[in-house]
Amino acid sequence: YPCFENRTALITGGASGIGRAVAGKLLDLGANLVVWDINAARLEELRVLAPDRIETAVVDVSDSSAVRAAAEVARARFGGFDYLLNNAGIIGRHMSVTELDEAELDRVLAVNLKSVFVVSNVFLSAPSGREGRAIVNLSSIAQRTGGMVGSIAYATTKGAVHSFTTALAKELAPHVRVNAMAPGVIDTEIQKDVFTDPSKIAAMADVIPLKRLGTADEVADCAVWLFSDASAYVTGISIDVSGGR
Ligand code: NAD
Repeated sequence: YPCFENRTALITGGASGIGRAVAGKLLDLGANLVVWDINAARLEELRVLAPDRIETAVVDVSDSSAVRAAAEVARARFGGFDYLLNNAGIIGRHMSVTELDEAELDRVLAVNLKSVFVVSNVFLSAPSGREGRAIVNLSSIAQRTGGMVGSIAYATTKGAVHSFTTALAKELAPHVRVNAMAPGVIDTEIQKDVFTDPSKIAAMADVIPLKRLGTADEVADCAVWLFSDASAYVTGISIDVSGGR
């Protein structure tokens, strides 16, 4: 199985859900972690698991100066990055396109899309000097299905993340591989309105060919594969992790 010893992974939104699951797996496989999130308490719960290998910082990824400052600190400690998981994301308030005010639109675009440009930039500016560097971005099947009615800004950003992945893979080849994952409905806090309502869970599961919702761990397994040399000939793609949806 892949070994990530002496490699450094930068994970955004790694305090919970999919990002936290990827952090746990890469930690078990020997990597150093740099994890940014806005949830200080959860970051600290992660950091204490291996303080010698985990650097955490409270960083709002939509704040470019905060991202650049945190990247300098991480670079000074670990000397550069090997892997990047662009994972921090929000659905935003439930609104139709006519209700969507500019402030909310800007917020969803900044967290889900602008951050992917800015964080990729700091990642690429601090190369580890090793072969096999890779980026994995979190898109969503919403980029194709349109997602839930009322989350048009979210679906749009996930479509853009898909295009960003394809374009950046070409730009960075053959040195850095860039791929995306498009999860379906995964049991994390971003879906809390679904997971607190048994009738919504049942209705959702019914339209999924595998007849159940996914787990953060199942998405994280795909990320580990995309980071590892086991996927060395794979770049510029988006993998659905959606139970066949
Ligand atoms: P989650 O809410 O459990 O985790 C998201 C994390 O991002 C949280 O820890 C949150 O604090 C952090 N975050 C939010 N805004 C931030 C900001 N401005 N700066 C830094 N951190 C911030 O949700 P998740 O399901 O693990 O989501 C991870 C990614 O997966 C998201 O990009 C999401 O769109 C994508 N995704 C999730 C699903 C799903 O069903 N759960 C489906 C498709 C795509």
